[in-house]
Amino acid sequence: MSSEVKGFRELLQEVQQKGICGKCGGCVAFCSAGEFHALSAGGDGAPFLVDESKCLHCGICYLICPQIKALDQELRQKTGWKAPIGPQRRLASARAHSRKIRNVATDGGVVTALLSYALKKHLIQAAIVSRRVGPLSREAMVAMSMEELLEAAGSHFEESHPVRAFGERYTTFSPGVREVKSLGKRDLHRVALVGTPCQIFTIRKMQLLNVLPADSVVLTIGLFCMENFSFDAKTRRALEKNLSVKLGQIHKLNIKDDVEVTTTKKEVVHIPFKLLDEFARPACFACTDFANEYADISCGGIGSPDGYTTVILRTTAGESLYNRAKEDQAIEELGFRNPDRRREAGTEMMAKIVAATRRKQARAAQSRGASK
Ligand SMILES: Cc1cc2nc3c(=O)[nH]c(=O)nc-3n(C[C@H](O)[C@H](O)[C@H](O)COP(=O)(O)OP(=O)(O)OC[C@H]3O[C@@H](n4cnc5c(N)ncnc54)[C@H](O)[C@@H]3O)c2cc1C
Repeated sequence: MSSEVKGFRELLQEVQQKGICGKCGGCVAFCSAGEFHALSAGGDGAPFLVDESKCLHCGICYLICPQIKALDQELRQKTGWKAPIGPQRRLASARAHSRKIRNVATDGGVVTALLSYALKKHLIQAAIVSRRVGPLSREAMVAMSMEELLEAAGSHFEESHPVRAFGERYTTFSPGVREVKSLGKRDLHRVALVGTPCQIFTIRKMQLLNVLPADSVVLTIGLFCMENFSFDAKTRRALEKNLSVKLGQIHKLNIKDDVEVTTTKKEVVHIPFKLLDEFARPACFACTDFANEYADISCGGIGSPDGYTTVILRTTAGESLYNRAKEDQAIEELGFRNPDRRREAGTEMMAKIVAATRRKQARAAQSRGASK
């Protein structure tokens, strides 16, 4: 091994020991998919060296970590990245045509409608999504049918997903990247991945390095993300106080300009991010990507009216899927009779996304300053 190649030990020093490991599972997914098995993930998702004799010292676990900046320039060049929010071909507000999807969706259901369209047209064999297993608790799943996509859509908390015992740590983060390692074994070679910016970033870096099986991810749908939350039995009470509602009384939780909680009594409460920052995962404070800048298509709620998803089409693959889905009426765009109003709405939407991006970048800079 060349002494210049940084590997898992450096990853521990530069990321885990600084408390900014997002536990995305990228390093473990790569190591296990390649059958090297030098790394494993602990119960809390944190990677550790399980058998150093199996380590090839290739340095890939280090390079693909979303908190490591070594490949940023190369990736930006490859994707035609532009300031301030990454590549973009078009911006739109849209929603699923299907009421069934809209009824369960977080915003307009565009993510689920696009995935279900891509499945139906055999453009993908499956999609890595995340299903609810309890309030503020989700787990990654490989969905292969419309029913499974519907199960994963939205951010409602139904009675079928009761509050579990709060002995352990709960998080809104769902490590979809970990599912990538199983794709080869399941003979899945055309898969979509839905994820937060850190997850899409890891996959893109794996693709840049031609790391298998990242080539099986043929479509990335990125979610806008200010932060993910985590809490445990001790912090639960404080969280409920700041949310102004008990977790068992949450009907729906949406994150847009702020955190929007709909109670089981259908009351809507808006909570500013700053009230919830203490429950955000530390890794989120080191992240500067709000609008999921490396995805094929990025989706969020900010900038669109209720019931619509804000969509950024970034790559030719993303734009082509979206246009086909629109032509075939799987999705519909918010219409404007007045072209001036359409332009104004586009400008307002862009301004909101840029402002949220700057907020996240400023927070990361502040957090870097504080840790020096
Ligand atoms: C943690 C988190 C933070 C977010 N922060 C913001 C924000 O600050 N501002 C903003 O405008 N939008 C934010 N969003 C995006 C927004 O909440 C919607 O997901 C987005 O608008 C898509 O809506 P939709 O109705 O089209 O999606 P739907 O059709 O409802 O589909 C949502 C998809 O996202 C998947 N998913 C849900 N939770 C997760 C998760 N934790 N990890 C990976 N995949 C998941 C589901 O499995 C499903 O496939 C955030 C989303 C998440 C998960």
